[in-house]
Amino acid sequence: MYRIFTMAVILQVIIFCFSCSVFASASEVAWTYGETNGPTQWRNSYPICGLTSQSPINLPDTEDMIFDPSLKPFQFSGFINPQDYKLKVLNNGHTVKVSVEEGNLMVEGGGLPGRYKTAQFHFHWGRDNTQGSEHLYSGTRYPMELHVVNYNEKYGNLSNAASQAGDGLAVLGFFFVPNGNTDNSALTTLLNKFNDVKTKGSMTELTGFNIGFMLPLSSGNADRFYRYSGSLTTPPCFESVVWTIFENTIPISDSQLGMFRMLQEDDTPNSDHVIVDNFRPVQALNGRQVRKSFASSASGLQISFLALFLVLSRLL
Ligand SMILES: [Zn+2]
Repeated sequence: MYRIFTMAVILQVIIFCFSCSVFASASEVAWTYGETNGPTQWRNSYPICGLTSQSPINLPDTEDMIFDPSLKPFQFSGFINPQDYKLKVLNNGHTVKVSVEEGNLMVEGGGLPGRYKTAQFHFHWGRDNTQGSEHLYSGTRYPMELHVVNYNEKYGNLSNAASQAGDGLAVLGFFFVPNGNTDNSALTTLLNKFNDVKTKGSMTELTGFNIGFMLPLSSGNADRFYRYSGSLTTPPCFESVVWTIFENTIPISDSQLGMFRMLQEDDTPNSDHVIVDNFRPVQALNGRQVRKSFASSASGLQISFLALFLVLSRLL
């Protein structure tokens, strides 16, 4: 009796281990940004990566975008109170990811189909300043791009929302522009942690970081953005993302960009396998439209000066 019981337990363990190894290989096939298992091969293991609403894209010039008056300004909740949320910084070998551990950061408005909770943000960057962003604007590449990932609260959590076609996620994208020797102080507390997450798999906590200060959304800039329907830019490439790319950019110094380029894609201390060029090439639009939230390519300030000039020229 005891032997039968023991054999049954061993059999169960074998079956369990077999099924978990199958699950592990099905859920996370190795992928890279290089030539082996690189972006052109992702579709072999992750078929959705080969579908027709993929990201990133080359955004057309604003002159060729359609103005959509339903794209109202965004409302951000909790972004400027660092004491209200704890952050966890992780080097996952593909990027540096900052997760919101607890708290109640929310994004709504902006023409989004619902209210979205902020889950994490991460970056894509190049080996030098000629490339690095995932999206392009009218063919222009930027040295880095920030993605703030938010999930539709009606789906309960990030992993459930990530596969919901159309409206599961709302990702906010921002381009960085090099600013010479002038550091962006909004990034300092995050960059001070990079020594602790230099190798793949390393993780640390981050307190006192203000997401709102990092975003160029003060003084009414949250109302100028581009919108299209797309996907995750990494496998499994779910087509669940309402994409927003903001017109305003984030300045960053050359030495701060250099700190991103020292993070490693492996876990061997001080190896030269650094994370650079962790961007997916642009994907075909396939008939998708990119809309803009504003009618004119001139800023609000320029418009008011123009209006003032027109009024004065009539009076004089
Ligand atoms: Zn991303």
